[in-house]
Amino acid sequence: MTKMTALLERNEQFARTYSPASLGLPTTQMIVVTCLDHRVDPAIVLGLQLGDAPVIRNAGGRVTQAVIDDIAFLAFLTEQIGGGQGPAGTLFEVAVVHHTQCGTGFLADPSFRQQAAAATGLAEAALEASAVTDPHITVKADVARLLASPMLSPKVSVSGHVYDIATGRLTTTVDATSSPNS
Ligand SMILES: [Zn+2]
Repeated sequence: MTKMTALLERNEQFARTYSPASLGLPTTQMIVVTCLDHRVDPAIVLGLQLGDAPVIRNAGGRVTQAVIDDIAFLAFLTEQIGGGQGPAGTLFEVAVVHHTQCGTGFLADPSFRQQAAAATGLAEAALEASAVTDPHITVKADVARLLASPMLSPKVSVSGHVYDIATGRLTTTVDATSSPNS
């Protein structure tokens, strides 16, 4: 008996009515980048079903180099699977979603940040950069960061959104935009 036991039982329920799908293009033509917070699961909040959209999650839902790497690979993979030779902005849209009451907001406090750095060995500057205190500001910055990356395919568009923990509502902060490199 471990803490995993209850989840294994849920999986048993799930597998009883499951039917597998082959690897294909995401049906929504979307990729979601969001926080790992268990209150903002995009499967629930955005009603995503299996096969609908790849989801990339980290603390804050920040556009880090690792996220940019994943998106570059997914763009390549999507073109390989789909054989897409379409015009700019047609491959898929990346929705960057930040949220209110984000736990990374604690990192804006210098003494909290120093303690976190000492306890984890993570660089204090990196922790500071990951903080989401105002999601409307950080989501705009992260959309701009992704659009500015030379690794971003011109066939990919990017949008920014804020999820409000208090209301359950998602608000669009930045409309879908393609890379200026295109
Ligand atoms: Zn968060």
